[in-house]
Amino acid sequence: MYGKIKEHLQKELADIQQAGLFKQERIIVSPQQAEIQLENGQKVLNFCANNYLGLSNHPALVAAAKEALDTHGYGMSSVRFICGTTDLHKTLERKIAEFFGTEDSILYAACFDANGGIFEPLFGEEDAIISDSLNHASIIDGVRLSKAARYRYKNTDMEDLEAQLIAAKDTRFKVVVTDGVFSMDGNVAPLDKIVALCNKYDAVLMVDESHSAGVVGETGRGVTELFDVRGKADIITGTLGKAFGGAIGGFTTGKKEVIELLRQRSRPYLFSNSIPPSVVKAGIKMFDMMAETHELQDKLHANTKYFMSKMTAAGFDIKPTKSAICAVMLYDAKLSQVMAAKLLEEGIYVIGFYYPVVPKGQARIRVQLSAGHETAHLDKAINAFIKVGKELGVIK
Ligand SMILES: *Cc1c(COP(=O)(O)O)cnc(C)c1O
Repeated sequence: MYGKIKEHLQKELADIQQAGLFKQERIIVSPQQAEIQLENGQKVLNFCANNYLGLSNHPALVAAAKEALDTHGYGMSSVRFICGTTDLHKTLERKIAEFFGTEDSILYAACFDANGGIFEPLFGEEDAIISDSLNHASIIDGVRLSKAARYRYKNTDMEDLEAQLIAAKDTRFKVVVTDGVFSMDGNVAPLDKIVALCNKYDAVLMVDESHSAGVVGETGRGVTELFDVRGKADIITGTLGKAFGGAIGGFTTGKKEVIELLRQRSRPYLFSNSIPPSVVKAGIKMFDMMAETHELQDKLHANTKYFMSKMTAAGFDIKPTKSAICAVMLYDAKLSQVMAAKLLEEGIYVIGFYYPVVPKGQARIRVQLSAGHETAHLDKAINAFIKVGKELGVIK
């Protein structure tokens, strides 16, 4: 009986191909790190991973994960509330709360699940969710699962946020939801102003720190640190899959009643498996490292500054950023693909993004810096950009 839908799917796939939107996956045969090896044997410098702190293959995290395999085994075979909670899970939840200066935390299999499972238990028909227009797909999906009224404001536009708060004034509870760092431009949510508006209009604040935690702020505590509003976001979600080791896992951290209710009612928490002890133990080790020193953040911030200043001096059009995401603007979709391909030939792995991932006419190459990059890596990338940029007439 597969015949009819098979034809339909084949056509759908052909349409994606035709539109030039078919996503190819590049196969890596080495660990994820600054220099990676591709399936064809080519070694390239990686500037497109969320490996902001260079922890994806850090020896201390690998060792911690191995240790947990010996002490706690491989899998949990259960959700948390049946028999999927170990001492390690509880410790990691405590460490996450300590890191963010919050009251309690709850782990999920991914931040996609944390965002998918937060709105429905907390906000009902009488309530309003006010969301930044560029929020992550998982927030959009999570909002869809709730019966609350939906309001949207233009990306980081505080006048529009205020207008939406006014429009929602007759609702019972209001929650303002924003990404900390927006992943395509690398711009940050102006949390100081958002906190002030939340106070003025009696709204709860939720921040998704997935791209900002570990990265932004002097000690990497995220956008709440950057804007000096630590403790003022009622709900924070985040991932262990980016700066924090890059394996898997997500979390919600914040007010204790919120976390307690999520343990009772949040569907991705209740009905999906616990993350494995090896990942949890490495997460604990990682937060211990973060508590000891912020030298990885220092290196990341220095690397970002170095790259941005050299690229700007070379004549590239770079979006201003306070994150480790550097958008090299090209505006032309085809050019972004040609340039990324030529950079790969030069041993620099970056991705060109174009519509519909970014607005029409806003094509770019996104560079992600890492504390795992050495100055020699950065220089190699900058020189490749200059060489290819000149060849393609992007710079003079
Ligand atoms: C990456 C990301 C997520 C998803 O995190 P996973 O743990 O990989 O599911 C959610 N929100 C934002 C803002 C992200 O950047």
